[in-house]
Amino acid sequence: MSDSYQRPLPILTDENRHFWQGGRDGHLLLLRCRDCRYWVHTPQPRCTNCLSEALTSEPVSGKAEVETFTINIKPWGKGMKVPYVIAVVALPEQPGLRVTTNIVDIDPEAVYIGMAVEVRFEQDEDVWLPMFAPVAN
Ligand SMILES: [Zn+2]
Repeated sequence: MSDSYQRPLPILTDENRHFWQGGRDGHLLLLRCRDCRYWVHTPQPRCTNCLSEALTSEPVSGKAEVETFTINIKPWGKGMKVPYVIAVVALPEQPGLRVTTNIVDIDPEAVYIGMAVEVRFEQDEDVWLPMFAPVAN
C-alpha cells in the first residue's frame, strides 16, 4: 500500500470522454452545438441554448481568466499535498463558459481574481486532468 495520494478520477462516459482525454493530444475539448454554435459545458446530451442534440467536441484556445477561487488547506486523503487552489476559470470563447479546475505552478497565496491562466494537463491513469497555470510572460 502506497502512502501517495490517489485522487478520485472521473468515470468516463461517451458524453464526457472528450473532456477528460483531449489532453492526450494537448487539447481542451468542450462540446459545441453544430446547429447554433453554442459551447456547452459541463457535458450533457443537449445544447443548453437551442436544445439540439447535435453536439460535437471542439478544441478551445486553452486561455482563461480566474473568476473565483478558494485555497484548500485540509488534506482529505493520506498523502494529499496541501495547500492547493480550486478555481472557476472563465473561457474567452463565450460569456458564462466556465471550467472548475485547479491552479498549479504558483504559490496559492499569489493567485488572484482576474489572473490570466492557460491550460496544462496532468495525466493520471487514463484521464488527462485539465489544470490551469499562470500565462508565461
Ligand atoms: Zn444549439
